[in-house]
Order: sequence, then C-alpha cells, then structure tokens
Amino acid sequence: MTDDGRAAVAAVEAVANRIERERDYLTQLDSAIGDADHGGNMARGWAAAADAARDLDDPDAQTVAKTVGKTLMSKVGGASGPLFGGSLVFASVELDDGVTAESAVAFAETYLEKVKDRGDARVGDQTMVDALTPAVHTFKKSIETDSRPALEALAKAVDAAERGVAFTVPIRARKGRASYLGWRSVGHQDPGATSTLFILEELLAVAADQLDSEVPDVDATSPTIPDEAGTDEGTTPEPEED
Ligand code: ADP
Ligand code: MG
Repeated sequence: MTDDGRAAVAAVEAVANRIERERDYLTQLDSAIGDADHGGNMARGWAAAADAARDLDDPDAQTVAKTVGKTLMSKVGGASGPLFGGSLVFASVELDDGVTAESAVAFAETYLEKVKDRGDARVGDQTMVDALTPAVHTFKKSIETDSRPALEALAKAVDAAERGVAFTVPIRARKGRASYLGWRSVGHQDPGATSTLFILEELLAVAADQLDSEVPDVDATSPTIPDEAGTDEGTTPEPEED
C-alpha cells in the first residue's frame, strides 16, 4: 500500500471511532433542531466506510476517498449523506497524483464548493458550511500565502472550524430541517458543523501521527466570523486607475 493510502485508511478508522464516540452527542444536537438522526446516520455511514476502506486491496488515498464517499452516500441517508459522501467522491479527483500540500488544498476547495453547490447553503445559514468554509480558507491561506507547513495549516484549519461551529449557535437556520423552526433555531449548535469539526480533528491527529510530530499549538489568529470572501478578505484593494 502507498504511504498516503495507509494514512488514508488510518484516518477513516479514526473518524469512524470518533463519530461512534460522539454518536449520542450528535443525536442530542439534532434532536434540538432536527429529527435526532445525525448521530445514528453518521455512525452507520462511517462504520461502513471504515469496513470498505479496510477491504480495499492496496489502495492509494484517492481510491480510499472515493470508496468512503460512495459508502457515505449509500449509508448515511438524510440531507447529510449526499453532502458528505457525494462531495468526497467529487473532490477525490484532486488526489490523482497522491497527497501533497498543494493537492490537499485543491481537494479541500473542491469539497467545499461541492457541498455549497449541492446544499445551496452559504456561510450564515447554520449548516456544516459554517465550519467548513473558515477551515478551508484558513488551510489554503496558511499553505499558499503564509507558506506554513501542512500540519500547522491543518491545525489552524481545525481551530477555524471550531470557531465556525460556535458561530452557528447565535444564528438562524436557513437550510435543512432546522430552517423549518425559523427563529427557534437560534441558540442551537448545528450538528453537521459539529461532525465536520470532529472529522477535521481526527484528520489532524492522524496527520500528526503519520509525520511523527506533535499537533502544533496554533494561535487563534483567523477571523472569528467566517466569511465567503476567503483569503482575500482583509487585504486593501488596489486603487483604481483613472
Ligand atoms: P437530515 O437533516 O436529513 O435529518 P442529518 O441530520 O444527518 O440529515 O444532517 C443534518 C445536517 O446536515 C445539518 O446539521 C446541516 O449541517 C447539514 N445540512 C442540512 N441541509 C443542508 C444544506 N442544504 N446545505 C448544507 N448542509 C446542510
Ligand atoms: Mg437529522
């Protein structure tokens, strides 16, 4: 098995274990603003995904990602199955030449775009997009603009996702089941944003393990409120020529 294939299988197993441990918590979050199935949906899907990944014969990371995505699509159900699974299958094309910092950025961006496309959700709709967007933007900026090592970039992305999850609490749901509640969704943490954070935390832990490194301690420097503008936000616009 390629090194990145082995790492990918380890990552899927770590995510499956984490989601299983968080099953009741995710269900509890979904029972407040949804139909109390997010923990069960995700635990079922990721357990099947880990089995499918383990059964692959000598896979590379791309094959693992595609297999996991297809399994999530068929097993998770609900709104979140196609969002997590379909987007993963779609983004796996970016791993054609294996996992590098550059291909990981492309993978993350394509995944985010697909989630937004499929769900028609934007930042501020109280969905997984609120955790994913700042994570992906922070990851990209850390690698491409700040030239930080991939592990540090991922640690910053997790930190950004954490604040994205907190950002879902005071806002009103505009997509998914929670949106049926209208203003009553205010004050509740989004389950899909929360499971997205758990997945990212496990990816970080496995990446650190594979690199035989400690998880870097990162400063909370990224914006508190996620933004659509991404890496260009905050830069001074060039004055217009006249
Ligand atoms: P369902 O809502 O069908 O019961 P789940 O409970 O498994 O599915 O997942 C709910 C999560 O899915 C929400 O917390 C939210 O993060 C995410 N979600 C729902 N609809 C959308 C959407 N249109 N775009 C992005 N994410 C969404
Ligand atoms: Mg639900």
